[in-house]
Amino acid sequence: MAKEQGQERGQEQNRGGETEGVSEWKQRAPYKVHDKAEGFDVKYEANCHCGKVQYQLSRAEPLDSKLCHCTTCQTQHAAPFQWAAIFHKEDINFSHGHHDLEWYDPTDKSIEHKLPCKVRCSYCHSPIMDEGRNMILLFPSLIHLKTDEDKAAFKPRCHMFYGQRVMDVPDGLPKWSGLSNDSDLIEDSPPELVKERERKREEERAKKFEKGENE
Ligand SMILES: [Zn+2]
Ligand SMILES: [Zn+2]
Repeated sequence: MAKEQGQERGQEQNRGGETEGVSEWKQRAPYKVHDKAEGFDVKYEANCHCGKVQYQLSRAEPLDSKLCHCTTCQTQHAAPFQWAAIFHKEDINFSHGHHDLEWYDPTDKSIEHKLPCKVRCSYCHSPIMDEGRNMILLFPSLIHLKTDEDKAAFKPRCHMFYGQRVMDVPDGLPKWSGLSNDSDLIEDSPPELVKERERKREEERAKKFEKGENE
């Protein structure tokens, strides 16, 4: 038992390696645990599969909700695509088990806490979130969405990395070949969005031409 605790402390040190102190990461968003006096306004509750990690959200509607078809998400989630809802780091409060987390940085294939990284429950390994430099991407499958209104707020708004998909999803939503707003709209994306995108491209080309930057 004592040995186990020692190992745990050692691990914790590794995890805090990118930050100042052993547990410094616990003091700041998104890991900061709010005390009651701070009046964290709870809109949703969520938990991992085993229930060791529990969190609350103070924002009723995510900033965005997307389906990602990239091969990293496919592998990391063992699923054809990933469903993620974007929140500010201040919107989350871990009510239980925020020390029962493990990290994985898919770029360096490292388990140190380096951003951006994947965050999982260290017991049941359910994916909890992707922690970016400024935002967090939460997985709505873990959130208790009770009303139709709740579900509508989290409904996916677009597909990204659709070029890497393993299956078609003909739902009429915008489909980006790569990153959203930074690639081509493909397949059954709404025609008016495709036209708007082309208009913007044409404008950019014209601007470049004026500046003499055209090839
Ligand atoms: Zn768990
Ligand atoms: Zn992805």
